[in-house]
Amino acid sequence: MGHWDSEKLSEIRSRLEKRVVTLPDGTTVPCVGQGTWHMAENPRERAEEIKALQLGIELGMKVIDTAEMYGHGAAERLVGEAIKGRRDEVFLVSKVYPHHSGLDKIATACENSLKRLGTDYLDLYLLHWRGRVPLEETVEGMEKLRKEGKILRWGVSNFDTDDMEELWSIPDGRNCAVNQVLYHLGSRGIDFDLLPWHRAHRLPIMAYSPLAQGGSLRKQLLTDPAVQSLAEKYRVKPLQIALAWTIRTNDVIAIPKAGRQQHVLENAEAAAIELTPEDLEKLDRAFPKPRKKVPLDMI
Ligand code: NAP
Repeated sequence: MGHWDSEKLSEIRSRLEKRVVTLPDGTTVPCVGQGTWHMAENPRERAEEIKALQLGIELGMKVIDTAEMYGHGAAERLVGEAIKGRRDEVFLVSKVYPHHSGLDKIATACENSLKRLGTDYLDLYLLHWRGRVPLEETVEGMEKLRKEGKILRWGVSNFDTDDMEELWSIPDGRNCAVNQVLYHLGSRGIDFDLLPWHRAHRLPIMAYSPLAQGGSLRKQLLTDPAVQSLAEKYRVKPLQIALAWTIRTNDVIAIPKAGRQQHVLENAEAAAIELTPEDLEKLDRAFPKPRKKVPLDMI
């Protein structure tokens, strides 16, 4: 694989494969996967983005997260190209737009995603966020797709605690496999109630924007003295500390997006960092856990 040392790659892979999250059906996936938002937007970056995803697969970051929304299907096509001939090595996640999540549209939306991805099934299909379609109807559509074998499991995204309660109260709502929400050291509102809710219900979280995507919060993470001192302690980069924090328990799957191979490697390496209780206290002081309910952060 490219110019990377194969011994180093297999060492990183074996460490990542030891850090797994168990889904409700017993399936395990490594706690660091790969996001794809904003991929396939610049033709000059396409070849590197494909190589980056393939390097990630090589490193064991088998969860690949995409959506019909990303680049109006272009990200799914790019993923399809990257996974060609290696479908069995990946755990493929895509998402349906809320306005496609009714019984009249969900099957077609899923079929279109499958076509773009060049596959005949998804490992996980998520409702991207809540819209006007009644949840019962979306769940019915998801269950139908599951019975037909088009998807192996389904889940939701951007659901706060009250949404999860509602989901739990409807027929088959408890078949949900995961909730994908924004979660990073600089945005830890879910630590107050949503994450405890998930733990009580044994339902993993998929953490999006685990590297704070960019912007001012990212800068805060990069320049924070506590993060910096831990980066020095472990001889890694500050963002690797941020990622190690997100996956510090065994029930969160982080899906950082990296269009560059070097970034993919760093993200996979972060799985080897085991923060100690003292490290975590230090980070808690710098980025305190909320003391009251904070509405779910989303982008
Ligand atoms: P993110 O993963 O927090 O950050 C991505 C940015 O960080 C990119 O600019 C990337 O640059 C850079 N990066 C990656 N690894 C790095 C490293 N080791 N060092 C320095 N920079 C690094 O943000 P995100 O894309 O918003 O979130 C991740 C994924 O979550 C998305 O791609 C998407 O699949 C999913 N998501 C879902 C929702 C939802 O509503 N469900 C919303 C947002 C995101 P390069 O690309 O240049 O490497």
